[in-house]
Amino acid sequence: MHFSEETLKKAWDRAGGKCEGAVVSQGRKELCGRPLYWEKKNSVVEIKHHDGWIALPRLIISGKAPDLAANCEILCLDCHRQHR
Ligand SMILES: [Zn+2]
Repeated sequence: MHFSEETLKKAWDRAGGKCEGAVVSQGRKELCGRPLYWEKKNSVVEIKHHDGWIALPRLIISGKAPDLAANCEILCLDCHRQHR
C-alpha cells in the first residue's frame, strides 16, 4: 500500500467520502463525485470490492509515493480503470 492509514483518512475526509476522479461528459470534464464507503477500500494489488474505491498517488518520486494526503487521490473503480 502506498499510504499510511492516517494519510488515507485525511484524504478521505477531504474527498468527503466521494470519488475525486474526473469524468468527461459532453466534452467537459466534471467531477465524478460517486459516493463511496470507507469499508469498501481496495488495495492496489487486490480488488476485493468491485463497487469500492482505491487510493492512488498523484505523484511518484523515484519509485515512492510521498505519504501525504495531498498526494492521495480517492477514486472509484470506474475512474481507476480510466486512469490506465
Ligand atoms: Zn469515479
